Amino acid sequence: MNLRIPGPTPVPESVLQAMTKQMVNHRGKEFGELVQRITERLQGFFQTKGDVLILTASGTGSMEAAVTNTLSPGDEALAITNGSFGDRFAKIAEVFGAKVQRLSFEWGQPVEPEAVRRALAANPRLKAVLLVHNETSTGVTNDLKAIAAIVRQHDKLFLVDAISSIGCIPLPVDEWGCDVVLSGSQKGWMAPPGLAFVSFNQRAWAAYKEAKMPRFYFDLGRAKTLLEKRQTPWTPAVSTFYALGASLELMANEGLEHIHQRHARVAQRARDGVRSLGLKLLAAESCASHTVTAVYAPPGVDPLTLRRTLLAEYKIDLAEGQEKLADKIFRIGHLGFVTEADIDKVTVALREALPRLGYRPAASAIPKS
Ligand SMILES: *Cc1c(COP(=O)(O)O)cnc(C)c1O
Repeated sequence: MNLRIPGPTPVPESVLQAMTKQMVNHRGKEFGELVQRITERLQGFFQTKGDVLILTASGTGSMEAAVTNTLSPGDEALAITNGSFGDRFAKIAEVFGAKVQRLSFEWGQPVEPEAVRRALAANPRLKAVLLVHNETSTGVTNDLKAIAAIVRQHDKLFLVDAISSIGCIPLPVDEWGCDVVLSGSQKGWMAPPGLAFVSFNQRAWAAYKEAKMPRFYFDLGRAKTLLEKRQTPWTPAVSTFYALGASLELMANEGLEHIHQRHARVAQRARDGVRSLGLKLLAAESCASHTVTAVYAPPGVDPLTLRRTLLAEYKIDLAEGQEKLADKIFRIGHLGFVTEADIDKVTVALREALPRLGYRPAASAIPKS
């Protein structure tokens, strides 16, 4: 199976093996050492001296934690969105009573930093800014560095969904001044689903002290108190901790810079591959994601039929388009445990399958190499 969706992602054999270990007392010494080792590794990959808290949840749980631990009902928040995960972040803030002002961009387009500057200048009551770094639904990476600098100039709290970027795409959390940064074990971390990560700096803790949104399971103050005892507040996903301990070891051996370079190379390979078939990409090259590539199905070819064909005949599982892109695109996930060879298999399968589904590229659509 060549699982090419942007999470859950394939898990190396040695990491799967680590998961077969027997349960231990999650309040005992052995598990405490694992909690500490994983926390320190994550701080390294997040490039932060702030806290990194590990929640037993999917990524969406960490989005909810980010909102409810920093805001109060009635607080004004700017939710920047250029895709379905940006919309989700906005919705969570609304559900918990924030007054959300949306700054929306076309799906497939990047966020314009200058539009963020204008929105912040126009509304001094805004307390927080919500952004998805890498919009997994469209394969667009936003210019987080530029946007973070603007948010800092206006001294707003900055909540960043980096669920499908951090660990794969550069994001030095402290250097860029991101107050809360989120990820999940099943994305770039080569581990199964079950754990979500939240980095929380001093500004975030100051906001926490004032924040009145309801929270219980995801109370990060409680998570920090227990982390000081090398524990988690509630029963954690113990097996996923085992896996993460092993996968972070693999990542540390490869080195963060090398991991970033590999993702950039693999993504380039994916884009070059589909372009060589005459297919069009949703995202411009300048903002194309290093972890997921969104591709337009060619005219006359239904993306669902195409995905079903690749699954049945090549055991390649591609991701669907979400919501309004459902009947227009398919997506290739390439984060975590992935090499160029995995991507070449996708290109070869597309090259063989598409003509059988009626695709005849115009000669002008094929780039000259
Ligand atoms: C995967 C993902 C999420 C969270 O999804 P879960 O299914 O809850 O893990 C959120 N934001 C982005 C950008 C994602 O890629």
